[in-house]
Amino acid sequence: MDVKNDGHPGSTQRLGLAAAPNGLCLVQDLVNTAGMAVPAFPDLLGEPASAQDWLDGALHVWTEQTGQAPPRLSLAEHDLDRLRDLRDRLRGRLAGEAGDPTWHPLTLSLSHQGGRVTYRPEGDGADGVASLVWTETLLAAHTGTLTRLKTCANPACGAAFYDMSRNGSRVWHDVKTCGNLHNLRASRARRRTSAETAHPIA
Ligand SMILES: [Zn+2]
Repeated sequence: MDVKNDGHPGSTQRLGLAAAPNGLCLVQDLVNTAGMAVPAFPDLLGEPASAQDWLDGALHVWTEQTGQAPPRLSLAEHDLDRLRDLRDRLRGRLAGEAGDPTWHPLTLSLSHQGGRVTYRPEGDGADGVASLVWTETLLAAHTGTLTRLKTCANPACGAAFYDMSRNGSRVWHDVKTCGNLHNLRASRARRRTSAETAHPIA
């Protein structure tokens, strides 16, 4: 597992998952901040310090992937609820939920120099993060990579992973854990059904 500069694994890295390509990694990283019971992972948006640590690391990966200057974004207590709400919306979108059509205002600056376009959020806090996250969602939707960013089909997991399979049919973030758990439950259910059929309850 890669460990970023300050020694803390990022939200996607702690799941042992590869980062989505280009700036889409930021969308994936935000979804993966959610806490998990097994393995016991805290919600990285639970308090300002852990949220800032997460954001600094996520922007470091974003900078490496996009080759753009790292935006300076700082988070305070009042940003956390909004980021968690943004995370829920993104998770719903990745899971294919239709949801209500919502317009997301962006505050972004573009620079066009030497044939290269770069962009940066102009707001701070949750506004800045949301602007960058929705921009990456838009870009990925246009390049066709957004459909490969998925959430694990195990509802107790929900990890965001980038599907690099040839036909784009991957549904588990890790087939050895979430996939096997699902298969085990399905085979137990089948055994129960066949036992009840063989010995019907009077
Ligand atoms: Zn999973």
